[in-house]
Amino acid sequence: MHGTTPLLSALNLRKTYVKFANKIEVLRGVDIDVAEGEFLSVIGNSGSGKSTMLHLLGTLDKPDDGCIHLEGRRIDNLPAADRDQLRNRTFGFIFQFYHLLPELTTLENVMTPAMITHSMWSWWLKRGAIRKAALEMLDRVGLSHRLKHRPQELSGGEMQRAAIARALINRPRVLLADEPTGNLDAANGQHVMRLLRDLNQQEGLTIVMVTHNLELVHHTDRVVRLVDGRVESPEKIAMPTFAAAGAGT
Ligand code: ADP
Ligand code: MG
Repeated sequence: MHGTTPLLSALNLRKTYVKFANKIEVLRGVDIDVAEGEFLSVIGNSGSGKSTMLHLLGTLDKPDDGCIHLEGRRIDNLPAADRDQLRNRTFGFIFQFYHLLPELTTLENVMTPAMITHSMWSWWLKRGAIRKAALEMLDRVGLSHRLKHRPQELSGGEMQRAAIARALINRPRVLLADEPTGNLDAANGQHVMRLLRDLNQQEGLTIVMVTHNLELVHHTDRVVRLVDGRVESPEKIAMPTFAAAGAGT
């Protein structure tokens, strides 16, 4: 069983975007707890605020109201420098379109977050260890044979696995994944999904994954749905979700 204090906890998150004369109330009081070691999936219609919520949880953006705690410590109102440091150490992100730097090799892409975390001097001292960590991580995601390839020389699945290795290089507490298989064919999507499940089960990595593929939800511990700017209770969505995805597959 999980501990009593959630690893990540959001209370009454609100976020409104104002575009010209339009006000879009995207999040209207989101409450969500993520337990340590949990693999949580978040579903919801396109435009329901899934990405917005993930960005708030990972301190990439600030809520208009509400608060976010990491192990009981408030993190949404930290000064920018503290927040950047916390984000680099605590959260790993992966996205639908990988966001690899096109001019860098696979190995260099994976090393990048570790470079950002260190000062120039400490990077120089630690570069051997960082390179070793990147090589280990690339081995973990099955890309040891693609170290010198650039992103355009990789398949979609390989790019996403490189992005996963990059997200994990600083050993984050939580991996935040925004539609990580959204741009992959079925086989590559399954490969990435299996990798995430293994990282969760074998290494205890906590994962919050946004998806609109209901079949993927079966591979996760729990699912919540964003509806009308709030999190719908799991009991309400369990049946239709699993029925729609074809139970037992
Ligand atoms: P989802 O990921 O569930 O598809 P998003 O969180 O990306 O939804 O977006 C929710 C709504 O907020 C959408 O209507 C989107 O157009 C709007 N939105 C998202 N980001 C911004 C922004 N930076 N400025 C204005 N509107 C935005
Ligand atoms: Mg989105």
